[in-house]
Amino acid sequence: MTQPPISIESGFQQTLKRGGRVKIRIHKILEGSLVDGPGKRTVLFLQGCPIHCPGCQSQQTWNPEGGQEWEVVALADELTRRGAETGEYTISGGEPFFQPEALLGLLKALRERGANHIIVYTGYELEVLASQNHPARPYLEEILPLVDVLVDGPFRAELDNPFLSYRGSSNQRAIDVPTSMAIGSTVLLEDWGQNPEIVAENGRLVIPIGLYPVFAEVGEGHPTRRCGELMER
Ligand code: SF4
Repeated sequence: MTQPPISIESGFQQTLKRGGRVKIRIHKILEGSLVDGPGKRTVLFLQGCPIHCPGCQSQQTWNPEGGQEWEVVALADELTRRGAETGEYTISGGEPFFQPEALLGLLKALRERGANHIIVYTGYELEVLASQNHPARPYLEEILPLVDVLVDGPFRAELDNPFLSYRGSSNQRAIDVPTSMAIGSTVLLEDWGQNPEIVAENGRLVIPIGLYPVFAEVGEGHPTRRCGELMER
């Protein structure tokens, strides 16, 4: 079934600056997560999402006035302190590209502090972000070289697939950003694809939530977080 295009809301978050310093609104930070991408990751959930996917389970991140305001540089310091063990970060939402200038500043600061690997989630398809009328478009060329994996697209309840790793619906793509930029076309990470991923981490299993009931009977496990879920695991 053809889906209606995701509308680009007016009133996109203007970058907050006080005293010349860029501010960013966040929902929360998690550290040591095994369920927000491969590895042991420090996860930042940003605040504010204009997309409003039906079925989103994190509607508390939608309000652009909610959450907490941080200075971008101070937030990068805090994330680096919490994530020093692996240098692996996931930036999720809300909608990260709702605060595009702040997102760019944060990514630059994380890389300057030695970040090894960064995953960014977005409810916009990459082609939508790259369209001329998208408010994040002016920042995209600087943002993408700072990202390893971009998981794109809205949550589509009718394409909900509990056997996917680190995603909710089958339209959401895991884009290998460095390779895509090198060859000039979109390259997907097929190992985030249709087959369930079963990974042993710290002696536990990290598995898609659809497989979790099976493995929960034989030992501890971590179901991977699905798009729009904020539940602590
Ligand atoms: S699933 Fe993600 S993109 Fe969709 S409304 Fe929720 S936070 Fe926004």
